[in-house]
Amino acid sequence: MRTLITGGAGFLGSHLCERFLRDGHDVVCVDNLLTGKRDNVRHLEAQGGFRFVNSDVSVSLSCDGPLDNVLHFACPASPFDYLKYPIETLKVEAMGTHNALELAREKEARILLASTSEVYGDPLVHPQTESYWGNVNPIGPRSVYDEGKRYAEAMTMAYHRTFGVETRIVRIFNTYGPRMRLADGRVVPAFVSQVLRGEPLTVFGDGEQTRSFCFVSDLVEGMVRLLQSDHHHPVNIGNPGEFTIMEFAVLVQEVLEKEVEIKHLPLPEDDPKVRRPDITRARELLGWEPRVSLEEGLRLSVDFFREEVGRQSPPD
Ligand code: UDP
Repeated sequence: MRTLITGGAGFLGSHLCERFLRDGHDVVCVDNLLTGKRDNVRHLEAQGGFRFVNSDVSVSLSCDGPLDNVLHFACPASPFDYLKYPIETLKVEAMGTHNALELAREKEARILLASTSEVYGDPLVHPQTESYWGNVNPIGPRSVYDEGKRYAEAMTMAYHRTFGVETRIVRIFNTYGPRMRLADGRVVPAFVSQVLRGEPLTVFGDGEQTRSFCFVSDLVEGMVRLLQSDHHHPVNIGNPGEFTIMEFAVLVQEVLEKEVEIKHLPLPEDDPKVRRPDITRARELLGWEPRVSLEEGLRLSVDFFREEVGRQSPPD
């Protein structure tokens, strides 16, 4: 089996590269390193069956030889990143997704699109089921990501309907774990690194907004099962355990056994007030549900974050 992973040097992409190599696939990792890091996959480069290609999938995407799977994960994924790279985000969801679908069609490969809970926007239905169409501001600053992913889903369904391409769509809810960039702005690396450094926790707004956090190994298992299934409609993969950001702030301090101050900062525009996946579909179709609790997952991530913080701080 041969699998091409766009965004393969990113947080999720690199975990997928690892998993598919472990499952015996040859892996082609395509990344332009805009937000990905070569270091995320350097340990894989010594292994046979792994190839890294530095290339922008928004411009073109090709590959010599046969392919069984295309996993399309290239895209800035944190609010901080996609607000910094709005045009690149839209282009990778539009042109990049088109190029990935064309490649899958040409190679008669199966394709998995990385979509997102952001397609539900600031949801009016809670928890979010796949049948909910969402509440997205089409011109707000987050729209580059939300609408980009919605467009990518539409294009994926069009390729399925028009050309019979074997498409899969995963709607990924907040995921965390080793290899997240400390400075990507997301709440997990932000809070963990702030506590490790003894800095105040930057809680946006009153911190009563909620998120549901999934450990990366659970997500990867769900996505592998989805790829292997014959289900072409979107499937939520996430952990339904729901926490307010204030509750999360307390938990991070408990796990790290260190207390810091809380500093409230303005809530970003269009920040969703609640988010929690309904995973009935994943349970029924894939026999999947998450196994790792938030507390456990944080404990599994701490060594990585501690090392990163150490690397980035000047020695005393
Ligand atoms: N957040 C926060 N402080 C931070 C970073 C994020 O309070 O330093 C909040 C953010 O406003 C949002 C939630 O944490 O309500 C999750 O944010 P994140 O950027 O991780 O992902 P999102 O779910 O918004 O895509």
